[in-house]
Amino acid sequence: MFRISQFMHELAQAEATGVYPAPARRTGKSPGSATQPLGPVVIWNLIRRCNLTCKHCYAFSADHDYPGELSTQQVFDVLDDLQAFNVRALILSGGEPLLRPDLFEIAARAKAMGFYIGLSTNGTLIDEPLAQRVHAAGFDYVGISLDGIGATHDKFRRLEGAFDRSLAAVRHLQKLGTKVGLRFTMTELNAFDLPNLLNLMRDEQVDKFYFSHLNYAGRGNIHRGKDAHHLATREALDLLYQTAWDDARSGGQHEYVTGNNDADGAYLLQWVRQHLPRWADDVQQRLVAWGGNASGVHVANIDNVGDVHPDTMWWHHTLGNVKARPFSEIWMDLSDPLMAGLKTRPRQVHGRCGGCQYLAICGGNTRVRAQQVTGDAWAEDPGCYLSDEEIGVAPGDARVVTTAYRGRKVIELVPSDS
Ligand code: SF4
Repeated sequence: MFRISQFMHELAQAEATGVYPAPARRTGKSPGSATQPLGPVVIWNLIRRCNLTCKHCYAFSADHDYPGELSTQQVFDVLDDLQAFNVRALILSGGEPLLRPDLFEIAARAKAMGFYIGLSTNGTLIDEPLAQRVHAAGFDYVGISLDGIGATHDKFRRLEGAFDRSLAAVRHLQKLGTKVGLRFTMTELNAFDLPNLLNLMRDEQVDKFYFSHLNYAGRGNIHRGKDAHHLATREALDLLYQTAWDDARSGGQHEYVTGNNDADGAYLLQWVRQHLPRWADDVQQRLVAWGGNASGVHVANIDNVGDVHPDTMWWHHTLGNVKARPFSEIWMDLSDPLMAGLKTRPRQVHGRCGGCQYLAICGGNTRVRAQQVTGDAWAEDPGCYLSDEEIGVAPGDARVVTTAYRGRKVIELVPSDS
């Protein structure tokens, strides 16, 4: 995840004081033990069943039960292991996590153990009574997906009235004081609605906006031919950066974050060079410390049956199962070549990513897109929207472009910067 607002707040502070602020620490003490590195943020798909069948669902979820899901006790056992491994943050997801009958029992236990708990939901089931239960469970954050206004969202979510129900959920939770964020995944079919969603966020006084680039997993891979054009992506990021900057410099506390495209860090550096060049070196240092793509390092995934993946987009690559082996062991096992490669810095990527001047910032971006389009997890990421000139490689070499999904991996090369 790329936290735009964190950088914008630092920049606002630098502008106000004349000094760029010191970095936040990333290590911590596990309860009752010596200092050790923080464990990854764990995105945990507790259930695969969903009341919707969204077009970009990475889990291919549908409205039926899936066999082999973790029992309540198995979830509790994993929580113990995660706590001992110094994992601090859990994002409980699905499918639709609110369909899991023991969700509130799991949330209560995780909360009592000291975890930060987020809930990732489509929001359509959250009426007033359910909002009260979510609020009472003490979720630190609830992310609700909105992929456009009205019919645009309904079309994505394949449910008429989904937008109204999700917006009602936002309002119910806001009224109770639960921190809420809007989650937007952009494709060429809904890019036009980004300004409207940002306005909605302002009007509804929502705390957070999560902008997700399309990743090529599950139905998102099937529909990758509808991914946003690079120019539309740049325009979206320009708008997000300006919105976040306006908020930060006026003392606002809204959060703007992005996911699934770590070139956003490099693009922010270019924005700073253009708008606030005095702080470009400081921002560059901070971006390098951030390091870009965190799959397999700072972010992890456990799916509904207990399989562990480098992140939620790697469900087609399993590292082990928590029923057979603790997560902490699976996560540190480098015998899996993909995991070893993800944990290597710098990552041994090739194509234009290998020669890119921003590799230390971006980390080579999203390896899933590279693998789904080319068959090679270390090829260039076709989702990179920066030009050859910007990344500092000679123009003219062919580059990988995203092709429509045809049930097999297809590589298509086009002249660079076309
Ligand atoms: S070329 Fe690759 S490494 Fe460079 S910014 Fe783009 S995705 Fe990141």
